[in-house]
Amino acid sequence: MKKIYADHAATTKLSTRALDEMIRFLRDDYKNPSTLYSDATLPRKALADSRKRIAKSIGAESSEIVFTSGGTESDNWAIKNIAFNKNNSRKTIITSEIEHHAILNSCKIMDELGYQVIYLPVDDKGIVSIDSLKNVINEDTAIVSIMYANNEIGTIQPIKELAHITHKYGALFHTDAVQAVGHIDINVRDLEIDMLSASAHKFNGPKGIGFLYLRDGVALNPFITGGSQEHGLRAGTENVAGIVGMSIALQENIENLNTNEKYLQELEGILVERLRTYNIDFIQNGAKNKIPGNVSLSFADIEGEMLLHRLDLRGVQIATGSACDSQNIRLSHVVKAIRIPPNYANGTIRISFGTDNTYEDAIYIADEIANILK
Ligand code: PLP
Repeated sequence: MKKIYADHAATTKLSTRALDEMIRFLRDDYKNPSTLYSDATLPRKALADSRKRIAKSIGAESSEIVFTSGGTESDNWAIKNIAFNKNNSRKTIITSEIEHHAILNSCKIMDELGYQVIYLPVDDKGIVSIDSLKNVINEDTAIVSIMYANNEIGTIQPIKELAHITHKYGALFHTDAVQAVGHIDINVRDLEIDMLSASAHKFNGPKGIGFLYLRDGVALNPFITGGSQEHGLRAGTENVAGIVGMSIALQENIENLNTNEKYLQELEGILVERLRTYNIDFIQNGAKNKIPGNVSLSFADIEGEMLLHRLDLRGVQIATGSACDSQNIRLSHVVKAIRIPPNYANGTIRISFGTDNTYEDAIYIADEIANILK
């Protein structure tokens, strides 16, 4: 059976160029970059080159990039950092209702530690309003953390405006850009971002590696303690191959950004137009300004999970915005937050295209959805 993978927001295939570079550092140049003999020069240089490549791709300096194990660690670090900072007297964290659980569950811990956490609502497109931030921010705010783009519906937030207001109150602005880095053009300076989380496996890099951008001058306390790697900020022998693979994959994606964006939007258009020809009752979620290739659809009077399993049997892999247990259907926090009408909410699915997908894939997915629903 033909398999169509259309869940690229969950993870992406490793780039061949990245893999080829990685193999060298796994098999041949495997020495520990912290050691002093000459063989360690190559992995050490590879780390420096990778850091430079990554920094350049988001408009930062090499010294502002710290490698982590991925998006989850970067998010945890950004949120929990204020608890490690003895000089910080500010006790409020502002975030949004539609963040990834890496942020939401970190905020929950901070709440239990006595910090105040404010969750900003979103409109029906998933956008955080500037006014909602203005209404709650004050001199007690330590950090505002708003995701760049949502993983379920793709909506991109007004990052620059949100960061600008945050700075008026002397707070830090963090963004979970895991779904955005490598997919859209990001310049941390233009956008006034202080901290940014990214994860390699979302942009054709390897799993288990990511980074945290930290604007020069922002105080960060070590989260993982031990040796002096990463300027003493993040201990542990570096995942050299992973870091090299991440930097190559990111550079490759950035080189093809415009072409990829146009192509993925074409795939979206084909899918949605084809579905419309079948007279199926559905709504498309998310804002106009969204991550290319991410299509969130809610079908009337069906269960998204049923649709997911039926599509799987036909070789199509997608995601859903709800999960069933024996008695209930549990809607995702994002589906709830954007207030999808009740008869559509249960029928929410996410199709996220990648550049390996073809026009035929988009047509096939639409046809199979129509066949199942009929
Ligand atoms: N943040 C967002 C928005 C995500 O989509 C994900 C992964 O799905 C993460 C964070 C976690 O990233 P990682 O898988 O690298 O831990």
